[in-house]
Amino acid sequence: MPKFRQTALPGPQDTLPVSIRSEGARSGPDQSRRRFLTTVAAAAPVLFLPKVLFADASAPRTLNFIHTHTSERLAVEYFSGGQYAPDALAEVNRFLRDFRTGDVHPIDPGLLDLLHQLAGTTAASRPFHVISGYRSPATNAMLRTHSEGVASGSLHMQGQAIDIRLVGVPLARVHAAALALKKGGVGYYPASDFVHVDTGRVRQW
Ligand SMILES: [Zn+2]
Repeated sequence: MPKFRQTALPGPQDTLPVSIRSEGARSGPDQSRRRFLTTVAAAAPVLFLPKVLFADASAPRTLNFIHTHTSERLAVEYFSGGQYAPDALAEVNRFLRDFRTGDVHPIDPGLLDLLHQLAGTTAASRPFHVISGYRSPATNAMLRTHSEGVASGSLHMQGQAIDIRLVGVPLARVHAAALALKKGGVGYYPASDFVHVDTGRVRQW
């Protein structure tokens, strides 16, 4: 009764923004319709707003990850039968371990819900690229010697923060969706191509 499964590599189409992919799939003389669709997509901030979240609170919740440092993949149903699945949470904890030291720490299930909602508000069922999940105090201290952007009390050390991008979705859109959720902290790192989200108090940088 595995709660998770390995997934295949995303195809090349998964690296393209949604709008480009949908336009690319449409070939023909219907230029005005294409322009209309493009305009609507570009001018519709409502697309960035969260849907009614957890309309069915007992519905299964899944996440799909690719770790950029370990190349591991994980597709996991971490909430099923109306409750968090311990086996699945354990697998998530292992997957999001400090990849430098191997240290495993419990990841806040609320952070998984935040990611689940984030995927649902942008482009559902696409995998997250994980840049950084749990960080041991030793790793955090090491990173602080190399970067001014690493906080001494980082929520990464509590299993409450993750640095991600969403495959095939422009980073700015992920950022906007994360802000719209108002679920915790949001850090925008376009130069490094990731967004930090955490379950701390609502703030942004
Ligand atoms: Zn971070």
